[in-house]
Amino acid sequence: MLDFWYKGLPQYPKDHKDFWRTRLIAHSLLTATCYFLVLTLLNLFYFHSYDIAAIDALGLVISLAIYGWFSKTANVSAAAWAVTFMVVSLIMTFVISVGGLAHSLFWATLIPPFAFFLVGRNWGSIFSAIAFCICAYLTYKQQQLTVTIGLGSLFNIIEVSIAHILIFRFYEKTRFSAYAHLTTRNIEIQHLAETDKLTGLYNRQKFDYALSQVITSSKETKTTNCLFICDIDHFKKINDAYGHLVGDKVLAEFAKLIKSSMPNHSLIARWGGEEFTVILPNTSLTEAITQANKLREYIFTHPVTNIKLSISIGVTVINPSDSVTNNLERVDQALYRAKNSGRNAVFVNDNNCISNTSLASI
Ligand code: GH3
Ligand code: MG
Ligand code: MG
Repeated sequence: MLDFWYKGLPQYPKDHKDFWRTRLIAHSLLTATCYFLVLTLLNLFYFHSYDIAAIDALGLVISLAIYGWFSKTANVSAAAWAVTFMVVSLIMTFVISVGGLAHSLFWATLIPPFAFFLVGRNWGSIFSAIAFCICAYLTYKQQQLTVTIGLGSLFNIIEVSIAHILIFRFYEKTRFSAYAHLTTRNIEIQHLAETDKLTGLYNRQKFDYALSQVITSSKETKTTNCLFICDIDHFKKINDAYGHLVGDKVLAEFAKLIKSSMPNHSLIARWGGEEFTVILPNTSLTEAITQANKLREYIFTHPVTNIKLSISIGVTVINPSDSVTNNLERVDQALYRAKNSGRNAVFVNDNNCISNTSLASI
């Protein structure tokens, strides 16, 4: 029964800001359902008050209906409003029906924590203030009739209620600002975890993950996606000749060039030291070869930070029935052949058939 009730909503995982709101909604509706069920049965079979039993049965149906609708639509905001209305009206109906007697006003102290958590600071304040006014009025009426409590008690209730509202407003504000701070930090941490610091491109970890996702999705979409790996030729010589700092500048500048030359939807990463990988989604092998050759020719004819460079590239189609490693192995074999052929070349691995595609030997 509890497993059914708390089966959770996939839209609101544990780290979602509304996860605990969904829990409170489910808890409240479960409590209301049990409460109405017991009251219905008691009024039906013990007190034989059929009209009250009918009201309780209506409450039972309403709480079940809200829960059913909530688990179907996952609309937290609307469900939060519905539950707040239900709980506040239940408490107030009870308090009013007994005229605030028998210390029933204490039930009203449940309203601020409930309303603030479910509908936020502003509406929580309004709900709490209305409930507080009704309670104060009832207490005042009792005072007039000199039925129960004295003036001191009246002031105590008023002061406690005001304190509740202020404390919960403060609590909600700190909770939201802490959550906003945490969200910003999480975004920053995620960015750091998946980005290469020197070039600002994605790192190898992120690239491998993205490739695994493309492999999975292309099984369903049946689209052609290509992959290429690009390695700067004789980069060690650049470091040796100009120093590591200049080498770093060349890498950063090269990253900008590769980014601006690839289509917007491509995913580019710095896969290793001077190796860059690119996923070209929805791209035929012919198109990918053209892109790779354009980049190779551009780099060969335009010095990067005044240093003449050349690059070698391996290209392949991402095979959805192969693993990430196998796809990378295939494209690496093409790169290896490009290097062996004398560099400044684009080689393709088409179903394990490797060939040179460089359009013109510049
Ligand atoms: P090849 O044409 O066969 O690719 O020759 P290569 O010299 O480019 O390749 P090799 O693998 O022998 O050397 C790669 C060099 O890249 C060695 C390493 O010092 C340099 N490197 C790797 N990461 C960085 C980096 O972050 N900054 C700098 N400046 N150099 C780096
Ligand atoms: Mg190299
Ligand atoms: Mg290399």
